[in-house]
Amino acid sequence: MLKTSVVGYPRIGEKRELKFLLENFWQDKIDEEEFISKYHELELSRCKLQSEFGIDLIPVGDMSMYDHVLDTAYMFGVIPKRFGKPNGLDLSVYFSMARGSKDAPAMEMTKWFDTNYHYLVPEIDDEQNFYLNYPFVLESFKRAKEAGIITKPVILGGFTFLKLSKSYSSKRFKDLLLKLAPIYVELIQLLEKEGAQYVQIDEPYLVLGLTSDELKIFREFYYNILPYLSCKTILQTYFEGVPELEMLYELPFKGFGLDFCRSDENLNKILNTDFPENKFLVAGLINGRNIWKSDLTKVIKVLDKIKTKVHPDRIILSTSCSLMFIPSSDKNSEDFPKELINRLSFAKDRLKELYILKEFLNGNNSFSSKIEESHKIWEKTPGTFFIEEVHNKVKNLKKEDFIRKEPFEERYKVQMDELKLGLFPTTTIGSFPQTKELRAKRAAFKSGTISREEYTSYIKSLIEDVIKKQEELGLDVFVHGEFERTDMVEFFGEKLQGFTTSKFAWVQSYGSRCVRPPIIYADIKRNAPMTLDEIIYAQSLTKKPVKGMLTGPVTILNWSFVREDIPREEVAYQIALALAEEILDLEKSGIKIIQIDEPAFREGLPLRKSNREKYIDWAIKSFRLTNSNVKKNTQIHTHMCYSEFNEMIDAIYAMDSDVISIEASRSKGDILEVFEKFKYDHGIGLGTYDIHSPRVPSVSEILEILERSIKVIDKKLIWVNPDCGLKTRGWEETIPSLKNMVEAAKIMRARY
Ligand code: GLN
Ligand code: ZN
Repeated sequence: MLKTSVVGYPRIGEKRELKFLLENFWQDKIDEEEFISKYHELELSRCKLQSEFGIDLIPVGDMSMYDHVLDTAYMFGVIPKRFGKPNGLDLSVYFSMARGSKDAPAMEMTKWFDTNYHYLVPEIDDEQNFYLNYPFVLESFKRAKEAGIITKPVILGGFTFLKLSKSYSSKRFKDLLLKLAPIYVELIQLLEKEGAQYVQIDEPYLVLGLTSDELKIFREFYYNILPYLSCKTILQTYFEGVPELEMLYELPFKGFGLDFCRSDENLNKILNTDFPENKFLVAGLINGRNIWKSDLTKVIKVLDKIKTKVHPDRIILSTSCSLMFIPSSDKNSEDFPKELINRLSFAKDRLKELYILKEFLNGNNSFSSKIEESHKIWEKTPGTFFIEEVHNKVKNLKKEDFIRKEPFEERYKVQMDELKLGLFPTTTIGSFPQTKELRAKRAAFKSGTISREEYTSYIKSLIEDVIKKQEELGLDVFVHGEFERTDMVEFFGEKLQGFTTSKFAWVQSYGSRCVRPPIIYADIKRNAPMTLDEIIYAQSLTKKPVKGMLTGPVTILNWSFVREDIPREEVAYQIALALAEEILDLEKSGIKIIQIDEPAFREGLPLRKSNREKYIDWAIKSFRLTNSNVKKNTQIHTHMCYSEFNEMIDAIYAMDSDVISIEASRSKGDILEVFEKFKYDHGIGLGTYDIHSPRVPSVSEILEILERSIKVIDKKLIWVNPDCGLKTRGWEETIPSLKNMVEAAKIMRARY
């Protein structure tokens, strides 16, 4: 009989129960006892749900109060000294590791592979001792067992855990890893004693490809663990194929979990190597990274291919990765277009897909119509989804469409002369503080309690106010403040045809924070101007230039769920063409500077280096397509706010924007070295202070960055700005910070 498995399930709950539970606890609205007991209920409800859908290998330990990497660190006693030395589970320590406390800054947070989920980066020192401090997964297993469900414990593997950690020297990697081995043995033996039959060990790091040395260490680690175990251990990977797969076959794992959704790499490996006869394959055929309903006839075809190499009795049908990257809400409660709802599959629907496949493949023929149905939906594109004109435009794109007519030097000179900007022009990144009052007004407008007129005139009053504030501060280039936008991607998702935004389709970003990625389901078209009213209004209030403000095509793409029936790059070009229309309209309306933000440019980078070139190529082209038609005196800015410019500097340069604003404050200007080495010679707006903290930067620390920068970059190219938008800041710190920034720029002008 065919079995089914789930790699992981959403934690946050259909109605974001975990979020509210956490926030109530943090705000002391409920006590620890109530928090824990409700958390356990939530955890158990996911097990029960999966068991209702007949899932055979139900994960536990994938649920977390905050983050599973934090749990792993906590479990193994990897607790930085500043948080104290807890014995067992101490929630105040646990949450201060995640969120910081009065005396101890939080651990660093970073993106989990190429997802939008953030994990906490464990801090491990060279002499780190590991011990079983608090075994979350064991406790979870016991609770599920008490409720009558035997689950599959999920543990983050030591290799990936250590690779994702920081603070130790790389030459200590092997020793540290081997020190972890007995702890894994101890933990898994405890699970076995409780009755665990399967244990899933996640080693997603494998998909990045290992060097031969790393591979050796990987093997040694598992040879120090697996011989002491009797349960069925699964080596689980996801997000890509495993390049060294066949070299792992002989390791004494009982099963291998592979992602068959991302690419054909794993399938080709299976077809071209000899999968070990005595092992089982957990075939990840149901997509955990996107929300499109599976065509089950296609899944069955892939399975048939796999069966030529792996005996059907040894195949377990599974999700490609955890389902935590897709919403668990009920899609039917949204006002999505009707033709779209049929095409969607959220987490619970994924369970249903597994159930249908399992029943059908185990001989229950009454499910064949469901299998047919899942195929039929994809046979025909609904008429409203297809816009011929858009397809033709993309098809007919020519080389010139990606290139501005004049070279940078020529453009920049005209621009700066016309704009009458001297040295060190000051500006901000776009958004200004969004107050409680604004959020309340927006909610009232959305729920219909206040009229559109009232809301619009309120937004106008904020624009008036922010223009006045910028005049008072003496900034050189203004923004309108972005008060009409909740989110820089959602805003455009609401305006463009081909997108839909959701009300409830939340996905965890970190801890209690969730995002609702827009869904790109059809051809994209701009039906009306999107940003013109606000920008033009702002410009009408001042003689200073106001920047037009747009989110770039690559960022919109990377922060949305994207259709899969046409290539990603085509979707990017469609967005770019829609933005290009907006940009020309802004230009026609007299806007002289247009900023196209691309903070998520880097996020779309394929995990494997060898796949990156292609992405970078079309991502750059998409950006350029948005503004290749503007006149030479229109200045194009872009903004990117991450610090790993090293690997991307050529790409950033190739975007050919007139000015780029970047982060520089957190890295204390180290970033400049990258730009120096590259001989970057376009405009650069340096992030002179960190907006992620309420701290007001002093004039002298801003000066320090600027002084450093003129040593490596032509002073004519340097702009002065904060390192990101000010949306989440308060006015109390924003005004004095900008005052100091403007002051620093003035001093620089006097000096040079
Ligand atoms: N213009 C946007 C803002 O200021 C940019 C945000 C971002 O880079 N994440 O909010
Ligand atoms: Zn930013």
